Amino acid sequence: MKTGLTVSDSIGSVVYLDYNATAPLRPEATVAMVDALSTVGNASSQHAYGRAAANHVDIARRRVAGLLGCSPGELVFTAGATEANNLVLYAASRGGRIVVGATEHPAVLEAARAHAPGTVTMVPVTRDGAVDLVALSDALRGGGVDVVSVMAANNETGVLSDLPRVIELAHAAGAVVHTDATQLVGKLPVDLAELDVDLLSLSAHKFGGPQGVGALFVRRSLRLAARPLLHGGGHEKGWRAGTTNVAGIVGMGAAALAANIGLDVEAPRVRALRDKLERCLLDSVPGSWRNGSLEHRLPGVTSITFPGAPADAVLAAMPTVAASDGSACHSGALGPSHVLLAMGMSRLDAESTIRFSLGHATTDADIDHAIQAVPDAVLRVRAALGNASKRVPA
Ligand code: PMP
Repeated sequence: MKTGLTVSDSIGSVVYLDYNATAPLRPEATVAMVDALSTVGNASSQHAYGRAAANHVDIARRRVAGLLGCSPGELVFTAGATEANNLVLYAASRGGRIVVGATEHPAVLEAARAHAPGTVTMVPVTRDGAVDLVALSDALRGGGVDVVSVMAANNETGVLSDLPRVIELAHAAGAVVHTDATQLVGKLPVDLAELDVDLLSLSAHKFGGPQGVGALFVRRSLRLAARPLLHGGGHEKGWRAGTTNVAGIVGMGAAALAANIGLDVEAPRVRALRDKLERCLLDSVPGSWRNGSLEHRLPGVTSITFPGAPADAVLAAMPTVAASDGSACHSGALGPSHVLLAMGMSRLDAESTIRFSLGHATTDADIDHAIQAVPDAVLRVRAALGNASKRVPA
């Protein structure tokens, strides 16, 4: 089996279909990071070594800005999207209300609760998984909203928000708009010259950069004063103290450049592989269905429910496929996915749902393996539980 990504494991090669949890490092990022790691120098030092390190960081900043269509000066480097989201909710809350979508990642939901206790309004989503715009209008009525935070693409279903409409509604109500674009950036084009969002979070490891590095876009015209969570040397224009993570940022820059160059080819290629996987799984597992909007979604993810087959049992029954029940981002989280429940799914069905996510290194062979292994595992689990004749529920 010629797979896109292999791990050394006692069971042989394992097909990796968990890109939304983390994507494998792009070769361009590995090369750039190894080079950066071998250079000495604190990017804040004034001597030649420091200037060389700062130069690496400047190039990376331009590359990330190129992927987003913003100016390099509008980016604050962070330790990932969790930190970027926390920074937004800390800096932009002024005692008013915070309005968030019900299917946001915990890095928004928990940050909102922590930084604006008691003032968080949660907007429901439709069955398709997108924020309900009528409910959003209602939530904005009466004013007093500091921040509206709606994710660009959901990590579990890939469903895309109608951001232009969200931005229009939020701005009309005088609120600042933030989007957690962690799952969108590097997978579909983003143009911040067109999209009038005020703040945007991203994370390198979702598009082939290293883990533990990300960025926050702060639109210059917003004139939002820096309000750091980490106090110290005033790095990143006062937003984020701490010695600059030169190699990590360089890796993110290289991944951004590679993703940007390959986007036109990669997105349709990944979409075709995802569509083949989805079609074959739905055809070969009786009673299974796909979740979320068919039309407005990321190219590389599908969320499929296999009723009568609990996801944890299915995943254990197919050790040669690495996929995820709910979201692997919340390690240790128990219980069904809040995203699927918010979309109106029952607990039982949510617990029988698997997320398959593909990306830049996924091959045809990966998908060919999965379309054999997954139905086989589901049918074995159903048979073991006496659910062999599971049919589509009414
Ligand atoms: N937001 C979303 C939508 C995510 O999928 C993730 C990662 N699972 C995060 C935020 C957190 O990102 P990071 O790992 O960079 O902290």
